[in-house]
Amino acid sequence: MTVIVNPATEEPVAEVPEATVEDADRAVAAARAAFLGWRAVAPADRARLLRRLGALVEEHVEELARLETRNVGKPIADARGEAAMVAEVFYFYAGAVDKHYGETIPVAGGVDLTFREPLGVVGLIVPWNFPAAIASWKLGPALACGNTVVLKPAELTPLTALRLAELALEAGLPEGVLNVVTGSGSVVGRRLVEHPNVAKIGFTGSTEVGRSVMEGAAGTIKRVTLELGGKSANIVFADADLEAAAAGAPYAVFGNAGQDCCARSRILVQRKAYGRFVELLVQATEAVRVGDPEDDATEMGPLISAEHREKVSSYADGTVVFRGNTPNTRGFWFPCTLVEATNEDRVAREEVFGPVAALIPFEDEDDAVRIANDTPFGLSGSIWTRDVGRAVRVARAVETGVLSVNSNTSVRVATPFGGFKQSGFGRELGMHALEGYSEVKNVYIATDG
Ligand code: NDP
Repeated sequence: MTVIVNPATEEPVAEVPEATVEDADRAVAAARAAFLGWRAVAPADRARLLRRLGALVEEHVEELARLETRNVGKPIADARGEAAMVAEVFYFYAGAVDKHYGETIPVAGGVDLTFREPLGVVGLIVPWNFPAAIASWKLGPALACGNTVVLKPAELTPLTALRLAELALEAGLPEGVLNVVTGSGSVVGRRLVEHPNVAKIGFTGSTEVGRSVMEGAAGTIKRVTLELGGKSANIVFADADLEAAAAGAPYAVFGNAGQDCCARSRILVQRKAYGRFVELLVQATEAVRVGDPEDDATEMGPLISAEHREKVSSYADGTVVFRGNTPNTRGFWFPCTLVEATNEDRVAREEVFGPVAALIPFEDEDDAVRIANDTPFGLSGSIWTRDVGRAVRVARAVETGVLSVNSNTSVRVATPFGGFKQSGFGRELGMHALEGYSEVKNVYIATDG
C-alpha cells in the first residue's frame, strides 16, 4: 500500500494499493473486453452517459475539491474551480459525440467516405499538479470517441481519479470502460506504454519522462500525445497597462504554488518600464495570501513534497528582489520568490515548478521575441501591450501553443491546448482533442454498374 500525505500538514490522509504489472495487465484486459460494447453504444446514449457523469461530478464538486485540496495542498477555491471544470469537460464532450463527423470526398466511379474510428484501449498517464482536471481533459475526448481507458494517476495524488471512476459507474458507464490503476510510473506507467493491447498513450508530465514514453511507444508504434514542461514568458511592454500586468503576474506564476506547466515563470519587462513594473510587482506579490489550503481566502498552498521543495529551493538564489513569507507550521512550504536574471541563468532555462519567477529586462519588440523563443520549451505565454498590431505580431512570432493578450489565462474547455517544441505535441480540449483519440478510416464504395 502507498500512504497518501497531505502536503500542508505532512499527515497521512489515505492508503491506496501499489499496483503491479499484473494489475496493469488486468486493467488493460478489462478495458479490451469492454471496448466493442462501448464503441457500439448509440451516439446519443454515449452522450447521455457522459452528461450524467458531468452532472454527478457537478453534484460532488465540494467533495472532489476537498479530496484534491488534502491530497495536493492546493487552495480550496482553486480546487472547486478545477472540479467544476471537470464537469464542464464531460458536458462538452457529451455534446461532441455526435458532432465529430466524417467526410464524403468527390471521386470517380463511386463514393468515398471517411469514418472517425476509436483507437481501442488508451492509457492515460497524468501528473500530480492538477490530478482531476488533467485526467478529465483526456477522459472526455477518449470516451466520447468510443475508446475504453486505463487511467494511471500520479502515485502521490490518486484520490480524485479513484472517486471519478466510482462516479462513472454510478453514471451508468459499463464496467471496464474506465479503469484506474494506482502505482508508480516506472512500473504501471511503463507497462501501459509498452503493452501491445494499448493503442495510445495520452501523457502529461515532465519532458524527461515524456521522452521515455515516446521511446517506449516506438516498440508497438503506439500513438502518443505529450503535454510536457514549459518555461513561458510573460512579456510586458512599456505601453501596457502596467498596473493590470503587475496585478496579474504573481498569480500567473505562483498559482498552484508554481506547479503549473503554463506558469509564466520568465517575466520579460521592457527596460524603460522595468523599475516601475518591479515596484508594482513586488507590491502585488506581497499581497498573495499563502496559508492553510482549506481556508477559502488562501491563494497559495505548499509544494507537493519535501523532495520537490529541495529541487525548487535550488533555483532561488541569484539576485533576489523579493521573498515572501510562509506559515510557521509543518508542510512543504516555499515562499513566493522574485529573482533578477538573464535568460542564460538556470532559473530562466529550466522548469522550476515552484513559486520562483525570473525577471528579465528587454529592449524592444525584436529583443522580446528573441528572448521569449530562446528556450527549448513552447507551451504558453502572455503579451501585455495597448498596441493591437504589436499584440498580433508578437503572438504570431512567439513559438508556443497557447498565448493570451492582456490576460494570463490559457486554458478553456472549448479551445485547443498544447505545446510547440519540447513542450510536446497533440492538442487537448476543444474539438481538436478528438483528433488525438480517433483514427481516420477511408472507405470507397463503387457505384458504377
Ligand atoms: P513525471 O513526468 O515523473 O510524472 C508524470 C506522470 O508520469 C506520473 O503519473 C508518473 O507516475 C508517470 N511516470 C513516471 N515515470 C514514468 C515512466 N517511466 N513511464 C510512464 N509513466 C511514468 O513528473 P514528476 O511528478 O516526477 O515531476 C517532475 C517534474 O516534471 C516537475 O518538477 C516538473 O518540472 C515536471 N512536471 C510537469 C508537468 C506538466 O504539467 N507539464 C506535470 C508534472 C511534472 P508516478 O509519479 O506515479 O511515478
